[in-house]
Amino acid sequence: MFGRLVTLLIPMALTAAVTVVSGQTPTPAAARPLPVTVIKAGRLLDPDAGTVALNQVIVIEGERIKAVGANLAVPAGATVIDLSKMTVMPGLVDAHTHTTLTYKEQPENNYYYLTYVMESTPLRAIQGASNMIQLLNSGFTVVRDVGNNALYADTALRQAIEQGWLPGPTVIPSGPMIGSTGGQYWPTPEMYKYHNIMYPEYIDANSPDEIVRAVRENMLFGAKTIKLCIDCKPWMYSVDDIKLAIREAAQGGCKVEGHVQTAEGAQRSIDAGIYIIAHGNALTPDHHRQMAEKGIILAGTDTPLTSYRGSEAAFKRTVANLRDAWEKKVVLTFSTDFDYWNDRMRNEKTGEYLTRGELTLNFLETWKAARIPNADILKAMTINGYLAADVLKDRGPIKPGFYADLIATSGDPLTDIDALRAVQFVMKNGMVFKKDGVMTPEAFFHPGPVRTPTGRWTR
Ligand SMILES: [Zn+2]
Repeated sequence: MFGRLVTLLIPMALTAAVTVVSGQTPTPAAARPLPVTVIKAGRLLDPDAGTVALNQVIVIEGERIKAVGANLAVPAGATVIDLSKMTVMPGLVDAHTHTTLTYKEQPENNYYYLTYVMESTPLRAIQGASNMIQLLNSGFTVVRDVGNNALYADTALRQAIEQGWLPGPTVIPSGPMIGSTGGQYWPTPEMYKYHNIMYPEYIDANSPDEIVRAVRENMLFGAKTIKLCIDCKPWMYSVDDIKLAIREAAQGGCKVEGHVQTAEGAQRSIDAGIYIIAHGNALTPDHHRQMAEKGIILAGTDTPLTSYRGSEAAFKRTVANLRDAWEKKVVLTFSTDFDYWNDRMRNEKTGEYLTRGELTLNFLETWKAARIPNADILKAMTINGYLAADVLKDRGPIKPGFYADLIATSGDPLTDIDALRAVQFVMKNGMVFKKDGVMTPEAFFHPGPVRTPTGRWTR
């Protein structure tokens, strides 16, 4: 059999060699010159420094930024994009969301246990694809998608976007949340023991061996971050359990986020040196102080009070907690925990449904109510988000060598944060996704994998 394969392959190799000699093969993609795009930015916002530089030129070669500065020459043959009347800035990050879970008032009474019984992984993956496009349209170029994603719909989305099947933000998927006995569910014995009901929404890991196995499985299937349910049950993970998960995740290049809902869970996460704490509700001022000291990132998931979600009392608490975390100088990210839908999610003036991007940007209301300065909100939405997503080696800032992910709005978000609600221009990986306020996604669609993924084991 092997011999036959060799005899089949050799003539093919010879044919290829002859073709190369005759010089008739098309130029391979790698040898083709990369397209050059030049952006003329009227105002270029650096959220890290909180400053704006006027009349800057950004030169982009292929997917990456080549040069940034004033008075740069436009290379011959370059496509010029005139944003001279706009503020250009790096793309936004939602540091904690769920794009493939959409629980509803009808028919499941907001009970996501039922959503997962009623909606298949393929259906939920397609919902995620739509949500990703809507998020990119509002300027979100990086999204941490952390759990409740059916059977690895999140890692598939990352791969599909990376390979060039469809447009979307860079997805940092966690795979299923790892927890003990039932994840966030409280299943019946029948459902738990005989139907394994919590999988694939959660992976049960009840001992050190099971924690190691669960972390490895998620990384094997494409997770880029690990999400632990620290205290979903009263028998919560110990400091040693969390440390073990952090060590194991590090072997696959992943950082660990803890879902935290109690003060004790928060303290154990801090003591273990976790990378991100998700949900700010249970955190005390003393937790904030310790987090700031250790550089632990907060994904507070700060739900605003709107006609479609929230209560006044909960909103007051959320605002006070966010304010305290900011005062204590915790590394803050913009995060939503978005995973629901109802019929009231409409523009109050037009009656039209809000997009996932618009709903996400409504979380700005919490930050405004907490009187966080615009410069710090912008930092949370960009630089701190890239840190949380762990992409800073090649994605985020508008600097030479980095992927060209950038957005533009006609206002100035440093003086009016709501200018972010009117993103007119979006570029992802050097390709224009939105121009003059209209999606132009043609360049992103292909009938095959045109880009090589960065691989499951490398970042
Ligand atoms: Zn969440």
